[in-house]
Amino acid sequence: MSERFPDIDWWCDRCGAYLNDQDGFDDHHYIWKCTECGHKNSISADNIYESHEDYLGMKGDDDE
Ligand SMILES: [Zn+2]
Repeated sequence: MSERFPDIDWWCDRCGAYLNDQDGFDDHHYIWKCTECGHKNSISADNIYESHEDYLGMKGDDDE
C-alpha cells in the first residue's frame, strides 16, 4: 500500500490528535475528519511543516 506522503505525521489542527493512528486514516483522503473532535483537516502538501513546533510557530501571533 503506497502513501501519498510517506513518513509524514499528520496532526489535527484543532485538538492536536495524531491522525495517522485514527481508525481508517489514509493519506489518499484530501480531507480527514478527526475522530476526536470532528475537525476537517486538509491532507495536502500545503499542510506539511518541518516539525510540530514549526507548525505552531506558523500560526502567528494573533492566535487567541
Ligand atoms: Zn481533532
